[in-house]
Amino acid sequence: MTRSIAIIGAGLAGIAAARALIAAGLAPHLFDKGRAPGGRLATRRAEVDGAKLQWDHGAQYLRARGPGFAQALDDAGAAPWPDAERRVGVPGMSAVPRALAKGIPGSFGRHVGVISGEPGAWFLDHWDAAEAKPGAPLPASAPTRAGPFDAVLVTAPAPQAAELVGPIWPEAATRLDTIRYAPCWTVLASFAEQLPLPDTLRPKGDTIGWAARDSSKPGREAGAECWVIQAGPAFSRQHLEQPAAAVIPLLLAALASHSGAPLPAPRYAQAHRWRYSLLEQGLGAPCLWNPALRLGLAGDWCLEGRAEAAWDSGTAAAAALLA
Ligand SMILES: Cc1cc2nc3c(=O)[nH]c(=O)nc-3n(C[C@H](O)[C@H](O)[C@H](O)COP(=O)(O)OP(=O)(O)OC[C@H]3O[C@@H](n4cnc5c(N)ncnc54)[C@H](O)[C@@H]3O)c2cc1C
Repeated sequence: MTRSIAIIGAGLAGIAAARALIAAGLAPHLFDKGRAPGGRLATRRAEVDGAKLQWDHGAQYLRARGPGFAQALDDAGAAPWPDAERRVGVPGMSAVPRALAKGIPGSFGRHVGVISGEPGAWFLDHWDAAEAKPGAPLPASAPTRAGPFDAVLVTAPAPQAAELVGPIWPEAATRLDTIRYAPCWTVLASFAEQLPLPDTLRPKGDTIGWAARDSSKPGREAGAECWVIQAGPAFSRQHLEQPAAAVIPLLLAALASHSGAPLPAPRYAQAHRWRYSLLEQGLGAPCLWNPALRLGLAGDWCLEGRAEAAWDSGTAAAAALLA
């Protein structure tokens, strides 16, 4: 019988693990609370006065240092931007995980709250993601139970992974407690006219950590003048619990300070708060795998706060499971 493996998290780490397991003849199943695969490789869309707008509000560009991720980016049709070394999904960043996850069985919009059972016969209890939130008590409604699974890989960000594995693998949860991420407030804005700014800005020691004319990426509506403005870690921490409405004008003003002139009022502005953005303190190992429990952990937090690290970690977890 084909061994069935549950993978919690369909970001790049989960997708890489699933692809490696399928290649080895196993049957992985992805579970994610998001509506589609991708995790922090994400694209937000909106329509304003008939104009179709979009922004990559998570990872901005992808850089492959090793052959595995380079091949994945080729497979996903990622295009160069803003230079030959860096690449983006077309028509949006989310096209990369969607292409790479094509054909992998998965359950989306499902929050996994409990792992139960025993090694070789694990079960997952999952709820509609609209009802359940990480860090909050589980919903009172009855969950859907999936399984049995021969093994489970958890590829959620470290704090969410710790909640899931803590009751069955407390030593791993202790190691997960040492992982630290910077938060990132991100403003998504669009203007009716072109701003007098270069396509990308990475000011040093500024409110803004990175800002980019997202609509200058390949395959986007070039005239849409869509901007992604990411606050640096210090600003994001200081304003973490503030409402989006308070953060948007501050980041727009910071962008204006780089243009030398007041900016026109945006025709659209939204903000997204990433609690777990770029990694500050990682694990220093490619993954965690417990052969006795048949339980593994992977994610960018194992190695580095970059998409390729997530890919490499997921690949390493699959290799450990198969060994
Ligand atoms: C604002 C921002 C900018 C960035 N910029 C760049 C960049 O320019 N270049 C770069 O290389 N990297 C960048 N990164 C980092 C990069 O996005 C990540 O390193 C990478 O996407 C992490 O992949 P992952 O699979 O480890 O985790 P994730 O992508 O976070 O995937 C984890 C998945 O687990 C799911 N999940 C969690 N808990 C549960 C649960 N209980 N049940 C079901 N599903 C669950 C989540 O929904 C999520 O989809 C950026 C990140 C952010 C946030």
